[in-house]
Amino acid sequence: MTNNNMYFIANWKMHGNAKYIERTKVVKKLLRLKKYKNHKIIYCPPFTLLKEFCDNVKKSNLYIGAQDCHPDADFGPFTGSVNTKLIRSTGAKYVIVGHSEKRKDGDNNNLINKKIKSALSENLKVIFCVGEKLKEKRKKLTYKILKRQINEGLRKIKQNENIILAYEPVWSIGTGKIPKISELRININYIRKILKNSNKSKKIKIIYGGSVNPKNIKQLTEINEIKGFIIGGASLSSKKFIDIIKKSIN
Ligand code: PEP
Repeated sequence: MTNNNMYFIANWKMHGNAKYIERTKVVKKLLRLKKYKNHKIIYCPPFTLLKEFCDNVKKSNLYIGAQDCHPDADFGPFTGSVNTKLIRSTGAKYVIVGHSEKRKDGDNNNLINKKIKSALSENLKVIFCVGEKLKEKRKKLTYKILKRQINEGLRKIKQNENIILAYEPVWSIGTGKIPKISELRININYIRKILKNSNKSKKIKIIYGGSVNPKNIKQLTEINEIKGFIIGGASLSSKKFIDIIKKSIN
């Protein structure tokens, strides 16, 4: 792997409180070392912690992202929702869209496309998640699913440099299972091919997510095309998170 400009995205899901800011401090320290300066570490805590985290990482090269957004960039009568303007006002620079846990709640490709457009219109960078379910993998539908998710999710979107594509096989998230490296390589190549066929090729970086931990990270870094990782469970421990970062970078 060309270990330059890699992304390490901590997806904290529905975990955390203000004290968790402590966990970012060790990572901040690590980033002061020259070796780590060119990499991007992004924490995605729950909405309620965004502002506090953003204030706390000022003057560091840590970034903060939200875990989802409402599709409407305009304010409106949407009880319980948080749009990209509100996210932007906290100082966050990134937003995760299309995570399988949101797809499970009903987000379809059309809604995801609207969310991505809304995020880009507010100058947020998008971490766009795609991935097949276990039953789809078993039926050998992975390519078809990825193609549909990518083409429909990115329909009529031109600002590709602000999009990071996260390949997250649904069956791998939170299960401790990762794909075989040979299989992962094939799927990442598929994704590159899909992007190329829709003229969205080079600017979109591809990262991997699904049960990344300090034990399996070395093998995952064997794939050159993977430019970083989205890390759920293991990112809640700063020790594990740092271990993953260190082992990814030669
Ligand atoms: C995720 O939720 O995006 C994720 C990758 O989770 P985990 O690392 O826990 O599998």
